[in-house]
Parts: sequence; structure tokens; C-alpha cells
Amino acid sequence: MSSEHVLEVLNPATEEVVATVPAATAADVDAAVVRATKAQSRWASLAPGERARLLRRFAVAVDGHLEELAQLEVREAGHTIGNARWEAGNVRDLLDYAAGGVERLTGHQIPVPGGLNVTILEPLGVVGVIAPWNFPMPIAAWGTAPALAAGNAVLLKPAETTPLTALRLAELALEAGLPEGLFQVLPGHGPVAGNALVEHPGVAKIVFTGSTTVGKQVLAKGSALLKRVTLELGGKSPNIVFADADLEAAAAATPMSFLDNSGQDCCARTRILVQRSAYDRFLELLSPAIEAVTVGDPADESTQMGPLISKAQLERVRSYVDSDAPGIRGKAPEGPGFWFPPTVLTDVDPRARVAAEEVFGPVAVVLPFDDEADAVALANATDYGLSGSIWTRDVGRALRVSQAVRAGNLSVNSHSSVRYWTPFGGFKQSGIGRELGPDALTAFTETKNVFISTEA
Ligand code: NAD
Repeated sequence: MSSEHVLEVLNPATEEVVATVPAATAADVDAAVVRATKAQSRWASLAPGERARLLRRFAVAVDGHLEELAQLEVREAGHTIGNARWEAGNVRDLLDYAAGGVERLTGHQIPVPGGLNVTILEPLGVVGVIAPWNFPMPIAAWGTAPALAAGNAVLLKPAETTPLTALRLAELALEAGLPEGLFQVLPGHGPVAGNALVEHPGVAKIVFTGSTTVGKQVLAKGSALLKRVTLELGGKSPNIVFADADLEAAAAATPMSFLDNSGQDCCARTRILVQRSAYDRFLELLSPAIEAVTVGDPADESTQMGPLISKAQLERVRSYVDSDAPGIRGKAPEGPGFWFPPTVLTDVDPRARVAAEEVFGPVAVVLPFDDEADAVALANATDYGLSGSIWTRDVGRALRVSQAVRAGNLSVNSHSSVRYWTPFGGFKQSGIGRELGPDALTAFTETKNVFISTEA
């Protein structure tokens, strides 16, 4: 068991201890802020091309250790090896993309009478990134890479259960030549190390990814210090299948739209909304697709779905599913490890807990709808607004529904949500602010306006 002073990292597929890591205290956070503040002023004064070059070297170091990072993620988080390789590659790509922004981080020249007016984008200073366990590497990098590129220092607090890849990334940053203290990892408990970052006056911005409950606390505490806070929170995203869609393609794509990462994905399409006239046919197609999903050893190349992260998460997921509830169920291993089978529940009341709350496990519900207006109303009948998919062959309908669904990331005839060069973030209770995309660096700057008189 993890204690106050140490984090015990378990392999979720075997329940074996992978590592124990000392837990950072509030005093450790204080000391880290001092080091980061010094490193940041040196970093910001480097020539932009030099900062970019160092970030590219960091990307090369990650690339050179891709397999090692991926294997570490399999062990600490139970991610399938295919996913884990993609995740390490995402860190590398994001560092490269952010490095390309350093020399392009330009302000404006605005016409004014009597002089010249320019805006300057200055770094914020020290940025705190608080990451969850579900995608430890990518989510750490989404905050870290653009923040560093914009001239900030970063203190990263990984989740209690998954500190190992974050710690390895910090070592690689040093090997690549990033200044000591510029990017530090503080593994620790949320209410201790995470909270210390949020309450520290020397931390200018918090990038928080995690649950809506903790996110609201972070926002409240951060706002007391007028701290910049961005929140990437939960979701209960719809997968809307119209009767005119390519039903075979829609059904084939549905399993991994909510089973990827064992459903521990804030973008998981866990509400499958199907037009009533196609409902029976869609379930006929979906059933064998769910049963065919291979669940097992995440280190095996052919595995599509691994275990849940922890016993606590397994118990949480179990609490949503009655064993005799009607639906489709896949297979999962027995024995050690935190396993739950792929599950699609039918005949569910849309107000039931499992249809309304984020389960964060391999569980979806199917709900029928009558027409386009009904589909949009059902899709929007949630406090969340992160992602969603629309399956139809009618282009006009695809556009109308994309405009009507209140969510930050929609895909048509696809379930893709996240690319490092397109913006990502949520509406409503799914968050505040955007990450990734062309404006990622700007989100880590203050705009300074300077007017230079020509009349003096
Ligand atoms: P969590 O909110 O419990 O923890 C997230 C992070 O916050 C962890 O590092 C944790 O240690 C830290 N934390 C906990 N209490 C804190 C406090 N009082 N002060 C400061 N930091 C604190 O969430 P989780 O269980 O790790 O992750 C699962 C949740 O995250 C799900 O609800 C999921 O939807 C959401 N999530 C959202 C996104 C997104 O991009 N929108 C991505 C991943 C996960």
C-alpha cells in the first residue's frame, strides 16, 4: 500500500510491485519552485533558436528511448504495448511541434497615432502541470512541451499510481541538455504535492487534468491567487449513429471507441445513440465485434484491451454494472490483475447512473432515438461536453449536428479526437481552456502591450 511518504507502483495486470518512489512533500515543492524560478530566467533569456534546439534534442532523446518508455508504461499503467508506443511517440512529436513554435511566437504590431504599438508575448514563469494516471505520458507532455517552448519552467506532478514514465522523461530532458531545474517531476499525493503547487504563489499557472471534482477545487484555490488555471476534466461522450450511416463501418468502429485504454479515456464514446429504425440491425453487428475484442496481457502485441489501473477503479466500475443487466459482454481474464470485460448495456434508463456518470471503464450504454432533433437533445443531455462522434452519409446533417452538439471535439464517421496540432478541450463541466494546436504556446504567455511615442 502507498503510504504518506512513499508511492507504491503496482503492475495492474499482475498486482506485483513494480517500484516504490518517495512522495514529494510541500517542502519539496517549495524547494523545486526556487530551483525552477532560477532556471526559468536563464531559459527565457536564451536565444529562441537555442531553446528550440534543446527541445528538439529532448525529442531525439525520447525517440531514442521510445521502447523503454513504452515498456515502462505497460508495467506501471497496464497500457497495451501498441498504445504505449504511440504515447511515447506522442511526447516526441509534441516536443518537436512545440520546438517549431519557439521562433514563431510573435505578437502584433497595431496601428496607432503618434508612435508604434507592439505586443510582446512573455513567459508566465513557473507552470505546474498536474497529470492523471490514464495517459501519464501524453497528458504530461501536452502541458509541458508548449510551456517550455514559450519560455517557462515546468513542475510536473504525475498521478500517484503512475510516476515512472514522468520521472524517466525528466532524466531524458537533463541528458538532452535542458538546464537543471527547468523541468522537474514531483511524484506525490494530490492533496499534498498537487495542492502545494496550486497554493504556491511562485507558480503562475496550473494545467490540471483529472476529475471534475478535484478540478473545481483547483480552480477555486487557484483563483484566490488569481492564478491562471486550465482544466481538462471528464466526459460522457455520445456516439450518434443515424440510420443512413454505413452501419457496418459504424459498428466495427464502436468497440474501440470506448474500450481503448480499457475505457479510462476522457473521450470514450460511452453513450451509443442509435436511430430506432437501425437499432436492431446495429446491435446485431455490434455484438460479435464486442465479443471479438482481445482482452489480456498488455505486453502481448495482439492484445486490444488491458486491465483497469487499480483495485479501486475496478470496484468503481463494478458498482455501475449489475451482473444480470441486459446487454453484450466480452471476455476478460480471471485471476490476479484488475480485469473487467467489455460491456454494452441495453434497455437502460437515460437517467440511470451508468448512463449519466463517467464510469471510466469498459462500459457503454446504447440508447435509441427517433430523429435528428431527438439525437441532439439526447447528446446534449449531460453535464459534460468533451467529445462526440456522428455517423451519417448526409453531409448537411453531419454539419448541422456538429454545430448543435455542445462539445469541444467532434468527429464525423470517425472516433478520432486528439492530434497534437489541433486544439483539444471541453465545454460545460468538461473543462476550461484548450490544449494542443496552433495556439498551445500562447496559452503559456502574458501579453504585454508597448507603445513607443515618435513625438518625444
Ligand atoms: P483525479 O482528479 O483524482 O487526479 C488527477 C490528478 O490530480 C492526480 O495527479 C492527483 O494526484 C491530483 N490531485 C488529486 N487531488 C488533488 C488536490 N486536492 N490538489 C491538487 N491535485 C490533486 O483524477 P484521476 O482519478 O487521476 O483521473 C481520472 C479523471 O480524469 C477522470 O474523471 C477523467 O475523465 C479525467 N481526465 C480528463 C482528461 C481530459 O483531457 N479532459 C484526461 C484524462 C483524464
